[in-house]
Amino acid sequence: MGKGFFEVPVAVNEPVKTYAPGTPEREAVLKQYKEFYNQKVDVPLYINGKEIQTGNTRPLSPPHDHQHQVGQYHLADKSHVEEAISTALEAREKWANLEWEQRAAIFLKAADLIAGPYRQKMNAATMMAQSKTIYQAEIDSACELIDFLRFNVQYMSEIYADQPDSDRGMWNRVEYRPLEGFVYAITPFNFTAIAGNLPTSAALMGNVVVWKPSDHQIYSAKVIIDVLKEAGVPDGVINVVYGDPEMITNTVLDSPDFAGIHFTGSTNVFKGIWTKIGERIDRYKTYPRIVGETGGKDFIIAHPDSNSKQVATAITRGAFELQGQKCSAASRIYLPKSKADEILNFVKEDVKSIKMGSPENMENFVTAVIHEGAFDKLAGYIDRAKEDKEAEIIAGGNYDKSKGYFIEPTVILTTDPKYVTMTTELFGPVVTVYVYDDNKWEETLELVDGTSEYALTGAVFANDRYVIAQATKALQNCAGNFYINDKPTGAVVGQQPFGGARASGTNDKAGSAQNLLRWVSPRLIKETFVTPTDYRYPFMG
Ligand code: NAD
Repeated sequence: MGKGFFEVPVAVNEPVKTYAPGTPEREAVLKQYKEFYNQKVDVPLYINGKEIQTGNTRPLSPPHDHQHQVGQYHLADKSHVEEAISTALEAREKWANLEWEQRAAIFLKAADLIAGPYRQKMNAATMMAQSKTIYQAEIDSACELIDFLRFNVQYMSEIYADQPDSDRGMWNRVEYRPLEGFVYAITPFNFTAIAGNLPTSAALMGNVVVWKPSDHQIYSAKVIIDVLKEAGVPDGVINVVYGDPEMITNTVLDSPDFAGIHFTGSTNVFKGIWTKIGERIDRYKTYPRIVGETGGKDFIIAHPDSNSKQVATAITRGAFELQGQKCSAASRIYLPKSKADEILNFVKEDVKSIKMGSPENMENFVTAVIHEGAFDKLAGYIDRAKEDKEAEIIAGGNYDKSKGYFIEPTVILTTDPKYVTMTTELFGPVVTVYVYDDNKWEETLELVDGTSEYALTGAVFANDRYVIAQATKALQNCAGNFYINDKPTGAVVGQQPFGGARASGTNDKAGSAQNLLRWVSPRLIKETFVTPTDYRYPFMG
């Protein structure tokens, strides 16, 4: 550090704009969306601060309008990935030794750029790339990413301030060294904020990074890259490659300097990467840090004394916002027989009132799912539920991919608590409901706990405090984020650090100091002021 114990600005959550009719932000984002829609962007790789057009391109199209092209991106081959790695390693020494306040300033500036001049671009790009409504874009690509950047700077300063005691005659100091090597960030399609957070959190702590965004988020990843450049991230610190995920990952994992992975995505992909790291363990210079937040099969369980309208609203919002493509989305629901009809009638009314279509039309609550593969998979499960005798579709159930990948919000009622859609992560606007006998509350808690390999989010709805306490205890291992009388989605940085257990990830809580600690390797320095010169101790007298 320079010549002062600098205090970082206190992080506060970025206020969410409403985008209500007549607001200036609504006009601005719609104008930006139209501009993007009518332009064609060319997205190069970013290696050592240079834009690299490989000429091997793929088109970019909005999921809600898949025949319309809004640009293209360039695919890396192995040599580009190798260049990204060597460039990162060359940048490492200078970056790792830069004063922390200089690094902090870059990412605080990035946050302010997103909060200000880039806000509409971030939101419009996220509406375009991931088919998010303006509200879903705002809470993700603007607010959550701003929060990640500001809170992480605060957490970094708190980590650095965490120092050991010193006895008389000595001074003990801990320095939080970045990892020796480079960090590999792999990001999912569904949150622009996660795409921004995984590479920047490691970089903030002094690491150099190779970042591979999802092919289905590249349009908004480009805006993140523009922001980071303008904020002053030096060349080589964050290098971005797109293309064949297996080739890129194998090339990265083959490097002896691979020092850690910051992954968010599906469980099977993460398990595959972990296996590959294990197979290569002898070649690494340091034990790689493995951080992965993965899938979920998130539950809502309502007690007979819960409020039906509250439960119904939590189901509608929790299961259908962002087309159910949140890792935290409610997808298996347990309702008591005495209340099920009332709750489900509210949900059916909600579903009937939901409008679906392009995010450009702000009346729409549901837009398109991310790509054709997701659409076909979801349509397959819906068709199967139409056939299976233990399942019945009680709301929605239609789909259409002629213009965009639209799946109607769908409610499946099942008599089998282990029915395929009660156990499999579908990642779409399809929720499955199981109705339990009111006198089987305790057995149902056990069922909730034992049904899924995942343990990401879950919610209990009840009034009785003893019941709430009982559920909190009984369900302690099946959700890393547990909600009482609230939907299981919508975690806010600094308030609900996010992550699950079991097959849902390593639970390193994105948006917390705990996560940042994974990207440093502390060094203890003990300095003795009057160094002994005689080996004999007094007791030897
Ligand atoms: P995905 O697993 O398909 O892709 C995630 C990333 O991994 C992408 O960049 C993709 O290109 C890459 N990838 C795909 N195959 C790979 C391979 N063989 N080797 C290396 N990399 C590979 O996931 P997605 O569809 O982008 O995102 C949805 C998934 O992410 C869901 O399972 C969801 O639950 C999970 N998710 C979890 C959290 C969380 O915090 N737990 C948050 C968001 C999303």
